[in-house]
Amino acid sequence: MSQKVVVVVGGGAAGFFAAINVAAKHPDYRVTILEKSAQLLGKVKVSGGGRCNVTNGRTLPGELVKFYPRGGKKLYAPLSRFGTAEMRNWLEHEGVKTKTEADLRVFPESNSSQTIIDCFLQAAKKSGVVIRTHCQVNEIKPEEVRWRVSFADESVEADKVVFATGSSAAAWQLLAGLGLKLVPAVPSLFTFHLNDPRIQGLSGVAFAEAGIKVAGTKLEESGPLLITHWGLSGPAVLRLSAWGAEILKKKNYHFTILINWLANHNQASASDLLRQLCEAQPKKMVKNHKWDMVPARYWENLLHQTGLAGKTFGDLGKKQINKLAEELTQARFDVTGKSTFKDEFVTAGGIDLSEIDLGSYECKRYPGLYLAGETLNIDGITGGFNFQACWTAGWIISESIG
Ligand SMILES: Cc1cc2nc3c(=O)[nH]c(=O)nc-3n(C[C@H](O)[C@H](O)[C@H](O)COP(=O)(O)OP(=O)(O)OC[C@H]3O[C@@H](n4cnc5c(N)ncnc54)[C@H](O)[C@@H]3O)c2cc1C
Repeated sequence: MSQKVVVVVGGGAAGFFAAINVAAKHPDYRVTILEKSAQLLGKVKVSGGGRCNVTNGRTLPGELVKFYPRGGKKLYAPLSRFGTAEMRNWLEHEGVKTKTEADLRVFPESNSSQTIIDCFLQAAKKSGVVIRTHCQVNEIKPEEVRWRVSFADESVEADKVVFATGSSAAAWQLLAGLGLKLVPAVPSLFTFHLNDPRIQGLSGVAFAEAGIKVAGTKLEESGPLLITHWGLSGPAVLRLSAWGAEILKKKNYHFTILINWLANHNQASASDLLRQLCEAQPKKMVKNHKWDMVPARYWENLLHQTGLAGKTFGDLGKKQINKLAEELTQARFDVTGKSTFKDEFVTAGGIDLSEIDLGSYECKRYPGLYLAGETLNIDGITGGFNFQACWTAGWIISESIG
């Protein structure tokens, strides 16, 4: 009997992990990866600033699903089958030790994404995966019982096709051409552009915890925040950009944010606090007050911008106290654009999850066609969740095939 054929389209994270595991579990299948570029696992290489945040230290599926703005609860069952702990075990079994950082991001102990690439290349070699680069697939066509996959002036037949071309809009069109429902691409995980004197010259100033809301929406996040050369970044901004990906695109990345720099206060309690300070130490210069949550450089700049730099607490009138309380708990900033977050960015959108059975990642309309990774309308916030979605899909496909 002739050997069955699996063609994996895309030599990125999801395609590679699927290929390795299909080949390892099913020696009766010949597995070939077709990659359009010269480079395999290109995004893995640059991921996590070159360190590859390979997964996350959280293990409970119920907790993990909260980190996927698109995908969410539907990932509960897949993550229960092959979650973060299973991925770490897989890597350990292949000789890659991992470590968990304080914020629960997991990296290879080597701090180098090359460790993951070397591991995958070795595993592919061991299980006999055939790798072909410079093969840009331009058509996949269902035939009577098999699939025809075409690239350049060649075409191959396959019993099963794993489609894992990441965020390539052109490749998504191949699937849309088969009638699969496509959710339009929208950037996720980006930072905010702001041109505001209150943050000018303060690049690098970090807030350990701040609350941030998008005015006129329900979008709200809290967490560390960082002033950059061009605006604001940090986990709170990135999370907001991921959850608000569609809404913020509709606003053409022009919107107003409200920032609470004093996480455990509202405007009224901040006013009370300032009044107490005025009563307790009227002679103290306002700029000499040290806040737990507000870095001194920001406070000084804010006072400068509000004309209060030379004032003592005793000088402050009701209006000025209210203004400061507002600036500390509901500071309004106009966002005028977005920037790519260089450590990690992903695309929301892709093939609608209703098109696949998440028990197998197989297309409901096209048996034998499997979809994985960013091709699907699944994306997570930063923290290793995006790669984990790829590993989970790749593993489940390897279990389902055959
Ligand atoms: C700078 C950066 C850093 C990141 N860091 C992290 C991180 O630390 N942790 C994390 O969890 N996530 C991270 N991400 C997100 C993560 O890289 C992606 O979610 C993940 O790579 C998606 O995997 P994928 O296999 O779906 O797509 P990709 O990794 O993009 O792979 C798709 C592959 O398909 C190929 N391809 C496309 N079209 C065709 C075609 N027609 N024919 C053949 N091949 C084709 C592409 O060339 C590519 O090699 C980062 C992303 C970026 C951009």
